[in-house]
Amino acid sequence: MKAAYDIVAVGGGPAGLAAAISARDAGCGSILVIERDRELGGILNQCIHNGFGLITFDEELTGPEYAARFEEQALSGGIDFMLDTMVIDVSADKLVTVVSRAEGLVQIQAKAVVLAMGCRERPRGALNIPGFRPAGIYSAGTAQRLVNIEGFMPGREVVILGSGDIGLIMARRMTLEGAHVACVAELMPYSGGLKRNIVQCLDDFGIPLLLSHTVVRIEGQKRVEAVVIAEVDGRGKPIPGTEVTYPCDTLLLSVGLIPENELSLSAGVELSPVTRGPVVNEILETNIPGIFAAGNVLHVHDLVDYVSQEAAVAGRNAAAFVAGNLDDEVGEIPLVATDGIRYTVPQSIDPSRMADELVVRFRVGNVYENRYISVYFDDERVKHLKRSILAPGEMEQVKLKKAELAAKPGLKTITFKLEEA
Ligand SMILES: Cc1cc2nc3c(=O)[nH]c(=O)nc-3n(C[C@H](O)[C@H](O)[C@H](O)COP(=O)(O)OP(=O)(O)OC[C@H]3O[C@@H](n4cnc5c(N)ncnc54)[C@H](O)[C@@H]3O)c2cc1C
Repeated sequence: MKAAYDIVAVGGGPAGLAAAISARDAGCGSILVIERDRELGGILNQCIHNGFGLITFDEELTGPEYAARFEEQALSGGIDFMLDTMVIDVSADKLVTVVSRAEGLVQIQAKAVVLAMGCRERPRGALNIPGFRPAGIYSAGTAQRLVNIEGFMPGREVVILGSGDIGLIMARRMTLEGAHVACVAELMPYSGGLKRNIVQCLDDFGIPLLLSHTVVRIEGQKRVEAVVIAEVDGRGKPIPGTEVTYPCDTLLLSVGLIPENELSLSAGVELSPVTRGPVVNEILETNIPGIFAAGNVLHVHDLVDYVSQEAAVAGRNAAAFVAGNLDDEVGEIPLVATDGIRYTVPQSIDPSRMADELVVRFRVGNVYENRYISVYFDDERVKHLKRSILAPGEMEQVKLKKAELAAKPGLKTITFKLEEA
């Protein structure tokens, strides 16, 4: 391990690996990936179900298989790794402070940093559910790790709160391991997960999805004995008289993911209040020159293939930054998300520096049928893309071409919105 590297990737999940590989392939010869876990691969190591890699490899892989393909490429040379090592600080001038049992406290000077720390699960404390604090309440991701990696069953009679993808996947997983999943309760009138997961993980196993429902009480002092679930009104308030008690020994929470950005904040990186990830431009660079971001730390993704694509862009541009090959910024055009579209990544584009084709990713704020995704260059509508269904659980994307923007000198704003069919 050296005291200085051209590029340091913080996190050895799919984003950190893809960024490091693309930076190496772009000619950067000094790259370090730092991972706090004892192995590379990130969250994919505990995702032993299939469904990964359909876009990248045109194959259905498990999470560990998908990760292994990137690990092989990364380990084939030109990239250094520190495992079991926690990054505890990244400064604006890219001094990376790490701590590990083997090395102690070490500082590494980078010329560019790729933030790839992924995200964490929202805990029970954020939910204000009345009741005691008995054993048997787990985040869905913790339960997934216990079952798939540690080999423990958290319980036998299960209720799941929240219909994000991890909750849906765990409903199926617990059932396959012999537990009974009574229901998945979801506060919103729509699921937060992918349609394919609702079909394959709930419908195929006869597990009810209770939309517009939430847990209003947890019973049991030492161990969960039951949860009380009630219907909610349009404002998310429980409707008196709709309470139903579900006896259970386990409550799994799948109530949202939060990008892991404490390090970004300490480096002075500006975060978006909507994505809770860094605000980035067309090269996925944050407001701090030379600090890039990709993957779930930037915004929560539905498919890992998009994480890998995005991280490759960040890695390639980090290499260009180090080599001094980035064109000077001429002028950033802000991207505005409105009328049903919650955010875009990136949040601004400099047409002079963008690639020939740029993928803009975003999510909608509700379930919509028969809408158009419209893109406006100032007042002129330049894209009008029909979608029969749009849902918050599925990430959307639109490609913008450099030539389209070049044809519009003086462009002030690019607006993304939904329009009625
Ligand atoms: C349950 C579940 C099911 C999924 N199912 C699918 C699916 O079927 N198909 C699909 O395509 N995608 C699926 N996904 C999504 C996919 O797994 C993620 O999009 C992807 O793993 C995100 O990659 P990442 O590198 O951004 O984050 P992560 O995989 O979370 O990697 C981040 C890494 O950074 C490390 N790290 C964080 N902070 C530090 C620090 N301070 N110092 C050092 N290291 C640090 C972490 O230990 C971790 O290894 C699923 C995700 C989950 C959780």
